[in-house]
Amino acid sequence: MKSKGHQTQTVEIKKSFAIESARFLPNLPASHPCAHTHGHSFKITLRLRGPINAKIGWLVDYNDIAKTAAPLIKKIDHKLLNDVPGLKNPTTENITVWLFEKLKPVMPELVQVIIQETSDTECSYPVL
Ligand SMILES: [Zn+2]
Repeated sequence: MKSKGHQTQTVEIKKSFAIESARFLPNLPASHPCAHTHGHSFKITLRLRGPINAKIGWLVDYNDIAKTAAPLIKKIDHKLLNDVPGLKNPTTENITVWLFEKLKPVMPELVQVIIQETSDTECSYPVL
């Protein structure tokens, strides 16, 4: 049991990544622009939550977040997303869920993935 003197505050931290990817959305009619191959500069933000480590003074090392996320980021950066296993229909919603489900088991403090598709559109999962 923790003594009162060692209790720490819960904080939320965010780490973002920028990727460039191509995609087409196969379930849309050909008349829709997104049915055709096009590119996005996606901004991916990971939200992590937990207690401040009493000794070190942070939640987790931002460098460790980057290291843990790197193999997954690599799978979707400068790729045609439709070719990535599990992303046959790579809507931003589906990418957000895909990333959360792959990252959560190796990043227990992760509470949400946010993907910005353009400067004024974004998707979050899970909904908090
Ligand atoms: Zn698009």
